[in-house]
Amino acid sequence: MDNATIAAIATPPGEGGIGVVRISGPDAAPIAGQIFRKAGRRQRVDLHQVESHRLLFGKIVDPATGTVIDEVLLAWMAGPHTYTREDTVELSCHGGPVPLQETLRLALAAGARHAEPGEFTLRAFLNGRLDLTQAEAVLNVIGARTAESLRLAVSDLGGDLARRLEPANTALVSLLAYLDASADFPDDEIETADIATGLQAAEDALQGVIAGSKAGMLYREGARIALVGRPNVGKSSLLNALLRAERAIVTPIAGTTRDVITETINLRGIPATLLDTAGIVETDDVVERIGVERSRTALRTASAVVLVLDGSMEPLPGDLEIARTLAMRPVDERTPVVVAINKADLAPQVDQAAVLTMLPDATAVHISATTGTGLEALEAALVDVLGAATAQPSLITARQRAAVDRALAHIHDAQEAHAAGIPQDLLATSVRAALHAVGEVTGEHVDEAVLNEIFSRFCIGK
Ligand code: GDP
Repeated sequence: MDNATIAAIATPPGEGGIGVVRISGPDAAPIAGQIFRKAGRRQRVDLHQVESHRLLFGKIVDPATGTVIDEVLLAWMAGPHTYTREDTVELSCHGGPVPLQETLRLALAAGARHAEPGEFTLRAFLNGRLDLTQAEAVLNVIGARTAESLRLAVSDLGGDLARRLEPANTALVSLLAYLDASADFPDDEIETADIATGLQAAEDALQGVIAGSKAGMLYREGARIALVGRPNVGKSSLLNALLRAERAIVTPIAGTTRDVITETINLRGIPATLLDTAGIVETDDVVERIGVERSRTALRTASAVVLVLDGSMEPLPGDLEIARTLAMRPVDERTPVVVAINKADLAPQVDQAAVLTMLPDATAVHISATTGTGLEALEAALVDVLGAATAQPSLITARQRAAVDRALAHIHDAQEAHAAGIPQDLLATSVRAALHAVGEVTGEHVDEAVLNEIFSRFCIGK
């Protein structure tokens, strides 16, 4: 990290009520002082003489020409009680691109360097205010698509993931101390049971993190749910009923194609994209075949499938054929199926056993897309088959997951070596490697390339 004072526009491009230029570093106060005039005053303000965490009202003035650029609120925050732990000034300007760019230009002319993407957060990390799990949680907070994923990200921001890794860290550190000591004093008796217990404790903590990450992944990345069924069973009606009940959420995922309609809903905190598929059964019709192909792709990439049936009539050959297609998928493509027996409002209801027996692992629920009956049960069944019902979901990034996996692999090596009676100094090598891998998650041990990769995913000004 260089010692420069950095500046950037911290708010998104475009017009808004206000926009913020952020300045952080040792010269934040003098740089802001050069371009800011307090209302009714001509002289510069020495922010170091102003109490920290105060707002000043005034103007941004080009010191070269005296031109007034904008009317602003200046927030003065002296380090170390700031996001970066450095002296920080935030200038709340009018939220238009020109006042913001002009204000930034003056800050740069006064000696600041333009910040790289994520550089404010990088400094927070390098200055020890955040560990890497917290820095990465910042990305998840910004990118949260439902209140639940926001809640998970915010708990990681508070150090939740680091806390959950702590038992593994502690177990490995004391194990290593023990192994090093017994290498130095080989004549002392060694309690072999301690080693196995220590390794087990570390393994349990790491496995716990992995177990929660699968559920956490669903909250962050979302799930894809394919609605399948022959024509007229009520797929579109169900899609609309779910949208009405849960209200569509904004999604960056590409919208509608002619054959597969997608909408994203908030499924009890999981951003769930519903895919209304045109059909998945073979056809000779060329146009239909394209639809079938797309639907099958949708099916392969889905996290769960809802097979919709019409409960008011006997299963038709089309229903049986779709059920057969689902039942015959290769095992590795077998996403869980929920059977939604629709039109529960119509009497009489007809037995659907012919379909259900073909899909013995599927959960069946009775619903009515028209009246909304059973939608709650359908949602509960989906949350259940998606595996989101585990107690403590956590959001971990692919990078963090890879480091946890590496730590576990080293622990397994140590366990095997220990079981085989291999000398303890060799065991210590594996334990040390496991400890290092745990440290990579929190950023205790992490190299510059990894840091660059992480922080380049941030937006400028964060
Ligand atoms: P899709 O071809 O599977 O998408 O089926 P649609 O959603 O277009 O529905 C086919 C017909 O069934 C329409 O006339 C719907 O109004 C009707 N329908 C759908 N769901 C229900 C339901 O729960 N109860 C009743 N009574 N009719 C339904």
